[in-house]
Amino acid sequence: MTTEAIMLRYSAHLPLKGIGSSGQQRIHDAHVALIGIGGLGCAAAQYLVSSGIGKLTLCDYDTVAESNLSRQILYRSSDLDRPKVEAAAESLQNLNPDTEIHSINKRMADTDMQTLFPTCDFVIDASDNYGTRLAVNRSCLSLNTAWIMASCIRMEAQIMMLRPDQPGQACYRCAYGEAPDTLEDCPGAGIFAPVAGIAGSSAAHFALAYLAGMEPPAGLHLFDATSWAWQSLKIKKNPNCKDCS
Ligand SMILES: [Zn+2]
Repeated sequence: MTTEAIMLRYSAHLPLKGIGSSGQQRIHDAHVALIGIGGLGCAAAQYLVSSGIGKLTLCDYDTVAESNLSRQILYRSSDLDRPKVEAAAESLQNLNPDTEIHSINKRMADTDMQTLFPTCDFVIDASDNYGTRLAVNRSCLSLNTAWIMASCIRMEAQIMMLRPDQPGQACYRCAYGEAPDTLEDCPGAGIFAPVAGIAGSSAAHFALAYLAGMEPPAGLHLFDATSWAWQSLKIKKNPNCKDCS
């Protein structure tokens, strides 16, 4: 992309301290992997692509269902039963033809991550299960790749910025331990659609700020929409953690 084009399309980013034209260029040069394109992933992807991310790889194995449409804002009624990666890629490419969009239509295993992540500058986990998050944690630890875990349920969102590229930082397992894979899920427990959007746009904020060269705060950030309160927690590294210690 030419400098002139960047100046025009992303002109609102250019006056921002910490971004400017050099930060916008870094965003343009970056490759992000997005694991999961549900309600949270849709919102994250929209902001990544509209903000000029250079390359985005979408990973999901699901198809679009009617019950997704209230909050998974990349999909239309005409997308029902289509693979999410296919419908999302089409929608995102219309949003910004300059972003290079790739799709992986499968449940990501460790080996898939070990192939994909070395080509990425940042990873966003927007999946809905601990097994995938722990696999992302292992892969990002082994590659020293910065990543973010984002999740939401009911009226609550959780964002954890992880920096395995920095010494002494806690990993995802340090924070969550041996959690069983019996999470409440959004269809069962409920999710207020805008809260998924808040979580997803927050994940995009952390990713874009990091890629532009800023230092978004590591640690766990919790949001309760009923009281509209954010809480930030510093997570200590667990010396007995079997993933990072
Ligand atoms: Zn750990």
